[in-house]
Amino acid sequence: MFIAANWKMNLDKKSINFFIEHLRDYKFSDDVNVCIFPPTIYINFLNELINNLPISIGGQNCHNLSFGAYTGEVSAASLKEFGCEYVILGHSERRIYNKETNQHIQKCAELAIETNLKPIICVGENLSVRENGKAINFIKKQIIECLPEKFEEIIIAYEPIWSIGTGKIPHKTEIKEMHKNIIEIVNSKTKKNVKVLYGGSVNENNIEEILSVNNVCGVLVGGASLKIKDFLAIYSSAVKYLDKIHNIED
Ligand code: PEP
Repeated sequence: MFIAANWKMNLDKKSINFFIEHLRDYKFSDDVNVCIFPPTIYINFLNELINNLPISIGGQNCHNLSFGAYTGEVSAASLKEFGCEYVILGHSERRIYNKETNQHIQKCAELAIETNLKPIICVGENLSVRENGKAINFIKKQIIECLPEKFEEIIIAYEPIWSIGTGKIPHKTEIKEMHKNIIEIVNSKTKKNVKVLYGGSVNENNIEEILSVNNVCGVLVGGASLKIKDFLAIYSSAVKYLDKIHNIED
């Protein structure tokens, strides 16, 4: 189980300090892994703060080339050098505001893998695509075009655009259908390991329902990952949910 906290362009040194201080004595579960994606400028700061806490760090994006005259960009190698384990690629905000294409995202994913970063490739349809019944085909094209040529393991985050930051989440059956399709689409190209996260308005009230859907391996959380109280409520609900499942299985 994986919880990705995407802080986007939020928080500062003081609030990051506050957040991490509240995790110092927290009893983490081995069953739920956490990765925080801070703004790039705070990666090193966060890395030094988290010390021995069982938290990974990731970049919110990386460039598709290793180095060069690309003002304002960040390379996969720099993320790696400063302790990142993961990188989010193709977030809908970057697709919309930075006009990132599937082809660009594929190149970034390939470079990330070469650099030993684990890419989390985001896909997701807008409302009109969903309402026109074209969501599955839309996601299929995104995945086929974004998937790197070679990988051992890939993480896809299904993030319907109409759900991000809106408080609306798809029906359980819609998430179930989409996650199943995503796995089938990846497996139609390769039998390598694929994990699918759900992202879009996840909070402490809906996390259990979302995690109960087949093939949901974790969540990507935006707004509700900014405050330590909300984040811990999500984390502890995920742990409780897993405990419940294990008890039933036993
Ligand atoms: C996101 O932007 O990836 C996201 C899931 O945001 P939120 O949780 O705020 O909907």
